[in-house]
Amino acid sequence: MKMVSTRDESKEALHYTDVFLRGLAPDGGLYVPLAYPTVSPEELRALSGAPYEEIVFAIKRRFVEGGIPDGTLRDLIEAAYAPPLFEREEGAITPVKEIEEGFFVENLSLGPTASFKDIALQLLGREMAFELGRRGGELSILGATSGDTGSAAEAAFKGLPHITIFMLSPYEGMSDFQRAQMGALSGGNIHNISIRGRFDDCQDLVKKVMQDPSFGHFGAVNSINWGRIVSQIPYYFSGYLRTARRVGDPIDIVVPSGNFGNMLSGYIAKRMGLPLRRLIIATNENNVLDTLIKTGVYEYAPAEVTSSPSMDISKASNYERLLFDLFEGDAERVKAYMKAFSEKGRVSLSEYGLGADIFAQYGFESGSSREEDRIAAIARTYEMSGVVIDPHTADGVHVGKKAMHGDGVPMLAMSTALPVKFEATVKKALGFIPDRPLRFRNLESSMQKESFAIMDPDVALLKKFLASH
Ligand SMILES: *Cc1c(COP(=O)(O)O)cnc(C)c1O
Repeated sequence: MKMVSTRDESKEALHYTDVFLRGLAPDGGLYVPLAYPTVSPEELRALSGAPYEEIVFAIKRRFVEGGIPDGTLRDLIEAAYAPPLFEREEGAITPVKEIEEGFFVENLSLGPTASFKDIALQLLGREMAFELGRRGGELSILGATSGDTGSAAEAAFKGLPHITIFMLSPYEGMSDFQRAQMGALSGGNIHNISIRGRFDDCQDLVKKVMQDPSFGHFGAVNSINWGRIVSQIPYYFSGYLRTARRVGDPIDIVVPSGNFGNMLSGYIAKRMGLPLRRLIIATNENNVLDTLIKTGVYEYAPAEVTSSPSMDISKASNYERLLFDLFEGDAERVKAYMKAFSEKGRVSLSEYGLGADIFAQYGFESGSSREEDRIAAIARTYEMSGVVIDPHTADGVHVGKKAMHGDGVPMLAMSTALPVKFEATVKKALGFIPDRPLRFRNLESSMQKESFAIMDPDVALLKKFLASH
């Protein structure tokens, strides 16, 4: 499979194993495949009832295409999802439950740090270590996190050869649970840097370092990394197969969205032939994506802090990958559009000859939630099914319920984190804190002192730290 940058008019073709070691393309674009592989109805039927690992292998090998030998790919997948890393519910790594008639929830958070980000990162870490070993290279990864990415990446890369992680996080602004998760992983090849500032300050610092070519190359582990997007596609297949009445029947999906990485994987699954009818994007109060889908206007808006913090974004980076398809692979137009967006902070599809109805043609719909909607969704879900959901999942459940057509097509909502990570909001909704899974019981007390280097938001200081480590 050939990969290109969304902004490269020359369409220089690369392989999966080239692009997943890079983050952004050198021209500032994101890597996308020139064509999507397909899964035929017969192949889909054959995956019905297959273990999750088997589905991952069947999907991933279409993207990796010999870049990683089949036998190795199988081994990496087995290792990534083996217990005790991933818990299982009734034997499933991504179990699906019907919480109300026709409304299903797929739990993506049974991994070591209790968010869906574990699923992609556990595999990506192993693939990167394998590829670097084969090439004889070393890679430093620099990232910024407001919570879930940091701990999931550190849990995945801890102790792996050839890779060092530098993770910036805001000094204040993460939950105690999230800070403790990262703190417990410090040491060895994992460096936690706590910035006296906000998440945006952390992201700015990362950008400044990465834009200085004299300072060397850094890899990325956020969802601009193509490897993450690919590794999220298989759970749309497994979720579909557990939800559809018969293989081949359509279902609708709803995905709590921030940077649009998770939903992009669902969209690609649809393009591969999975019968997903409607792709419903759910946002919280930070509704950049909801506005985009409804009006065709993409407008930067400073993020406010909400009870679903992993969706508190001011722009949705992965939208550029969808834009490449909307513009039928015209890199020049993508470049002009993204330039206009970065200069003016606002751009309308109508300036490019497209109406907002283009999103519906691709299957997209959207909605948003507010604090009281999420609280109500947590309470109602518990009442109806006894299942406790987290605030991010609640956002999807709220939007998904409103979008139900009553036409018998099931709705599948992606559950992106366990409620244990957001106990305060769950307590507000239910009046009690759910039982912590055993593996998280002593988390806060296992945090080591001095596991974060504390730093002012100053790029010179950061560079000094990076150079000395
Ligand atoms: C990261 C995250 C999201 C948002 O996912 P995107 O891929 O950025 O759209 C939603 N929920 C949780 C719990 C997350 O950690």
